[in-house]
Amino acid sequence: MNGAPWQGYYYNGLTAERHGVTVSLGATSIRIVKADRTVIDWPFAEVTLNHRINADGTARLERGRETLAVGGPAFLTAFKTASPAHSSSLRNAGAAKRGAWITALILGAVPVIAALYLWIIPLAASYAALHVPPAWEERLGESIVLEFTASSPECNNPEATAQVSAIITILDAAAKPHPYTFKAHIIKNRMVNALAAPGGHIIIFTGLLERAGTPEELAGVLSHEMQHVLRRHATKSIFQNLSTYMLITLATGGSGNAAGIVNTFANLRYSRMNEREADEEGLRLLMKAGIDPDGMAAFFKKLEETRAKYPSALAYLSTHPATGDRVNYLEAEIKTRPFKVKAAPLLEGVDWQKAALACSGGR
Ligand SMILES: [Zn+2]
Repeated sequence: MNGAPWQGYYYNGLTAERHGVTVSLGATSIRIVKADRTVIDWPFAEVTLNHRINADGTARLERGRETLAVGGPAFLTAFKTASPAHSSSLRNAGAAKRGAWITALILGAVPVIAALYLWIIPLAASYAALHVPPAWEERLGESIVLEFTASSPECNNPEATAQVSAIITILDAAAKPHPYTFKAHIIKNRMVNALAAPGGHIIIFTGLLERAGTPEELAGVLSHEMQHVLRRHATKSIFQNLSTYMLITLATGGSGNAAGIVNTFANLRYSRMNEREADEEGLRLLMKAGIDPDGMAAFFKKLEETRAKYPSALAYLSTHPATGDRVNYLEAEIKTRPFKVKAAPLLEGVDWQKAALACSGGR
């Protein structure tokens, strides 16, 4: 034994009883002797030095549920000399303990964040998207259209907008009752792309419009995009991205920027399930409106075939992957549902080529 015996208090952790004890330090353990001469040895390796020091300078040591309170800095100095493993400063011991807590919290938080990301956020996003008022979706859609027109102007050529709107009106008339007002926006951009913003805004890039050889071909894309609006896929996806974005912002301590979400909207991908639903319901709507569905399959086939020629311009294919699959799907579906083609083709008598190219400077 070395060092003077110190006076302290011992608690066995089972009762609140405080035992006055004499404490001395051995080579490998702390010896605690109670008033009744009972001896308790604490091997250094089992001792934790509590970082909290009482106002009177009493150090607290713990072993399991047992506690030992010993007064005076002299004891601490002697203890740390006897047990070098405890020689880090009290503050460091506290920091290490806090570090361990933070590690435990992070490890605990990983499954929580994973659950939030994989399960809770999509569920909450779906729920919220299905319950926001359509007027709210419309405003959200408008702000997205504004984002697009800020970089590429909207084409207001009366001939082009009239023909595109005419197709939307025909499709809309065949759709089940819904609270939306569809509006076509033709954006002057060579990218082959079309997308649906929440609330009924359908954005068509001139690059896509130019490649639609017939009104039926464009009708296939429009019918598909309208389903994304009617089934609130766009709203749901934005909510989900927004929630994830806010979660990341919160986790990284950054500041949020809602415009970032709107900007990523152009590259928004829907789930395969949503895409299949839009194809299936889009095809059904086309047939119900009396529009030849072969145009839809033909247009997606054409896009797929030009993929090699203009890979970077085909934004539509990057947000609508596996076009080959869907062409096969559409062709098979069309075969199984015999369609009586209407006597008159869509927009009969209209110079489609002229209308489709009007926003690109005519032919
Ligand atoms: Zn789609």
